[in-house]
Formats: sequence, structure tokens, C-alpha cells
Amino acid sequence: AKSLGRARYSFFLPEFNTRRQASVALEQQLSEAIERREFVLHYQPQVHAQHGHMVGCEALLRWRHPARGLLAPGEFITMAEESGLIAEMGLWVRDEACAQLARWKAEGLRPGVMAINVSALEFRDHRLVDSLRDAMMRHDIAPQEVEVELTESALMADSDTSLRIIDRLVELGVRLAIDDFGTGYSSLAYLKRLRPHQLKIDRSFVRDIATDADDRAIVKGVIGLASTLGMDVTAEGVEDEGQRSFLCQEGCTYLQGYGIARPMPAEDVARWMRERVV
Ligand code: C2E
Ligand code: CA
Ligand code: CA
Ligand code: CA
Repeated sequence: AKSLGRARYSFFLPEFNTRRQASVALEQQLSEAIERREFVLHYQPQVHAQHGHMVGCEALLRWRHPARGLLAPGEFITMAEESGLIAEMGLWVRDEACAQLARWKAEGLRPGVMAINVSALEFRDHRLVDSLRDAMMRHDIAPQEVEVELTESALMADSDTSLRIIDRLVELGVRLAIDDFGTGYSSLAYLKRLRPHQLKIDRSFVRDIATDADDRAIVKGVIGLASTLGMDVTAEGVEDEGQRSFLCQEGCTYLQGYGIARPMPAEDVARWMRERVV
């Protein structure tokens, strides 16, 4: 009788299958996605701007949705954050990224540093540090082989707790990168306090370098600031030769973007690495 009632309800309300319903369904599926092994990491190589050799890669989460195909984080990360599932997902991401780094090394490859994205929300919970340390130990990965990418919003949420967590990460010995630098609200005081190893210039500043003098000035400024403070700079979203040569000329340290390599499954990155080794 219950199911009949539901069926009728759906019949009389055309908007039964609203976005809300769809999103409840998606959240339910998201909560089961780890056990069902539907998550996968793709990896985007990062290269040295001057020599062009690979220095590392960034792990980027993908969801192989059974009906909708391969989904990028834009389609589910916010939902994961709002539902609290992000903690469990982050745990999986850190373990899998370390496992993959170990697999590549076992194959005789030299992938460099593994950059891992961590949600601002995870900087409220000290288990972030423990889980990263556990993952590195489990897969025999040294802290210098791991870089944690955090956005400026990680410092906003609860700055006391997040600052302590960041300090613990630094004590652990992992590298720290500020992601999407320049798009958030962090003050320069935070840079002085945290001394991240790296700033990642957001793609939005790189995109129009050829035509936008303001963007060129911003990029130059960030590179200058970083070099004064002894930090490396990665430019994101490098798609063409004009962007690449400007960034090289200005002294950007590392490059990442479709123009160098797209995010790829692990096997494709292995092939990419082998083809580049002379
Ligand atoms: P992000 O950390 O800024 O990652 C860079 C994004 O730019 C990636 O999108 C990448 O595929 C894309 N990208 C790289 N090069 C280019 C380029 O040349 N042109 C253009 N148009 N795009 C480029 P993606 O993979 O969709 O990830 C989106 C965001 O989702 C990431 O932005 C990051 O904030 C978040 N994310 C990804 N993986 C994870 C994860 O494991 N955990 C958490 N918490 N967030 C993640
Ligand atoms: Ca990132
Ligand atoms: Ca970024
Ligand atoms: Ca971004």
C-alpha cells in the first residue's frame, strides 16, 4: 500500500522528480561510492618551467557514476562538503594518492611530488594530519614527496584550529601549497606566518595573459612576492605557447595545464613519463 501511495503521489505532482529529489538521490549514491569503488584519481603532471622535466603531479578526483559517466569534482564536491562525506572521501584520496606514488616508483618511474587537494572543511579536524601520516607510512612515502594544496578559505573557517593543523602538517614534513592564490581573502600576514613552499597562481590570471595587462601585472607581482619570500610558484591552466613563454620569462618555477598535459588515469601518466625520459 505504501508503494502504491508513493506512485500516486508522483502521478499527481509533476515536479516529483525535482532537483531536490535528484540531489538527495545523488547524495545517497555518493555515500556508497567509496565502497562501490566508483572513485578514481586522475593525475595532472607539473613540469619545471625552465627545463621542462616533470617535478610532480596533482591528484584530481573523479567519480565514475554508474549512470552519468565520469564526473568531475564540480558536480559533487560541494555536496560532499555539505553532507560531511568529504572527510571519508579525503581519507580515500590521501591513501590512494600515496598508493599510486608507490606503484609508479615500484615500476622504476620518478614521478616527483604528489600534490593532494584538501578541502577547507577538513582543516577543522586534526584527523587530517593523522590520516595523511598513516597513508604515507602504509605506502612507504616520505613526507617530502607529498604536497598538500589548501585554498585561502581553509584559513577563514576556524583559523585557530586550521593554523594548528597546518603547523602539524609542516612538522610532519610535507610541502604546503596555497591553491588558487589571489582569488580568496587571505592576507599577506598569513603568508608570512605559514611560509608555504609554494603558491599556485589561479588559472583565471593566466588565461588572458596575452591580452590583459592587469593579469600580466598580477602574475608578475605574485612571482616577485614568492621569490622574495623564498617560495616556488606554479602557474595553473597553462594552455598555449604564449602563456608558457611569458611565465618562463617572468621566472615562474613550475607549469601545469592542458598545454603541458591533461589530467590522466595513472597508466597514461606512466606512459607519458616513459615517453619523456630520454
Ligand atoms: P583545482 O585544485 O584548482 O584543480 C585544477 C583544475 O583545473 C582541475 O579541474 C583541472 O582539471 C583543471 N585544469 C588543469 N589544467 C587546465 C587548463 O589548462 N585549462 C582548464 N580550463 N582547466 C585546467 P577538476 O579536476 O575539475 O577539479 C576541480 C576542483 O575540484 C579542483 O580545482 C579542486 O579544488 C577540487 N578537487 C579536485 N580533486 C579534489 C580532491 O581530491 N579533494 C578535494 N577536496 N578537492 C578536489
Ligand atoms: Ca589544486
Ligand atoms: Ca587551483
Ligand atoms: Ca581552482
